[in-house]
Amino acid sequence: MTEIPILIGENWLHPEVEQTGPVHNPATGEVIARVPLCGAAEVDQAVAVALQAFAAWGSTPPPKRARVLFRYRELLEVHFEELSRLIATENGKTLDEARGDLRRGVEVVEFACGIAHLAKGENLPRLAEEVDGMTMREPLGVCAGITPFNFPAMVPMWMYPLAIACGNSFVLKPSEKVPLTANRLAELFLEAGLPPGVLNVVHGGREVVDALCIHPGVRAISFVGSSPVARHVYTTACAHGKRVQSAGGAKNVLVVLPDADPEPTVRAIMGSAFGCAGQRCMAGSLLMGVGKAADPLREQLLAAMDKLPLGGPLSDPRTGMGPVIDGKARDRHFAAIVEAPGVGLEVARDGRQGLPEKGFFVGPTLLDRADDQHRVFKEELFGPVLAMLRPSSLDEALACFNQLPFGNAATLFTESGTAARQFSLQVKCGMVGINLGVPAPMALFAFSGWDQSFYGDLHVQGTEGVMFYTRQKTVLSRWAGGFRHFF
Ligand code: NAD
Repeated sequence: MTEIPILIGENWLHPEVEQTGPVHNPATGEVIARVPLCGAAEVDQAVAVALQAFAAWGSTPPPKRARVLFRYRELLEVHFEELSRLIATENGKTLDEARGDLRRGVEVVEFACGIAHLAKGENLPRLAEEVDGMTMREPLGVCAGITPFNFPAMVPMWMYPLAIACGNSFVLKPSEKVPLTANRLAELFLEAGLPPGVLNVVHGGREVVDALCIHPGVRAISFVGSSPVARHVYTTACAHGKRVQSAGGAKNVLVVLPDADPEPTVRAIMGSAFGCAGQRCMAGSLLMGVGKAADPLREQLLAAMDKLPLGGPLSDPRTGMGPVIDGKARDRHFAAIVEAPGVGLEVARDGRQGLPEKGFFVGPTLLDRADDQHRVFKEELFGPVLAMLRPSSLDEALACFNQLPFGNAATLFTESGTAARQFSLQVKCGMVGINLGVPAPMALFAFSGWDQSFYGDLHVQGTEGVMFYTRQKTVLSRWAGGFRHFF
């Protein structure tokens, strides 16, 4: 059984821990490795090494830092297929989805390659008589990232490439369910020439997270995961004086108007609700068929769901949907389907049928006739179970969705510019799609969730990411007198 090491400086270590956790291949249910569940001692070690490394890395000229990122980008391309297969193995998503996961991460590295330009400050000569003003952005010190299981490459790469490009050193705590990809990503960064200690990886669960949130040597925490943990990380790390960006869970809506173009709409809904087995924070988990749109939409969707081939990502190239992450996640979905008829939901398609024999599979499921009182409306299930509502108008759809405490994403399918404009202006969430199933902003824009989908101020990615990982210094200079003599 593979025992997974942690990375402290340039050393891959097997710490002496009381407990290890299983890493599954979700497509077969087999345990493929064991991950050490570290604690405060390993966090202390990692932060000490990161602090040491920061002294030199933080004062390395940004163009020189960028050169390491350019080399890293090339290595990621060379190892693209190998990494994608690793993602698919430990997460269960299809190979194409795994490639997408990695591609979104590589785009952040490409963005971070522009750090010499991105981190430039501003200046204003003659701010006052004989006084010039300028700003500069400086790195913070040791930053830490805590990530979820659903994007083994992309979410860690939302964080450490940009933090490191900005001159910080970093401690990554990946999800204990998908530690293999994180280790390989770190290994390649060292191979690209990153000085040892600038990136460290400590595996584990709550103990590591809590130790990072209270550690006096850590200046900033980036977190992505479920809302209760996001809030816990935000409040704990803020109370310990850290800068925090903490992204939480979601309940994203897909609203379909009667004038929507049926074929691309159904394709986009299938990708959004069932892509990555519904385990994207951008996955549409609420479907609103407005007025006359509802009946034909349901029929077209059911036909498409029946054609979606379930299977292991690496065992069958035709696989359209992989398993959920573990047995606990599968049982949570089965329980929601069992509960449905008793609470007035119609099980239009039951994802417990026709499943592969092994692995943590849940088939695409549609629960029709939901309303704002149902648990499937209010709570994140995080899998391939889509709840369908039937509002009579766009106004009703907006009023219904806007009461949710989450504020992640919403999409409208329509051919009407007026409806699209109303939706963009009135919907209460941070990421909006028009005729787009997954309106993920990619590396150039901030991943801008609201409310219980994000605690903090500056989001990951884009220029907000640069601002999060740097602090501003304003310099005012007075050089009086002298130069009159020269002219
Ligand atoms: P999770 O909250 O269970 O775990 C996330 C991280 O927190 C992991 O590293 C885990 O080890 C740690 N953790 C878990 N419980 C903890 C606790 N009690 N105290 C301290 N740390 C703890 O999330 P998950 O199941 O790995 O990922 C799925 C969730 O992530 C979903 O809710 C999804 O919506 C969310 N997500 C959000 C975004 C976003 O950008 N908003 C992106 C991806 C995933």
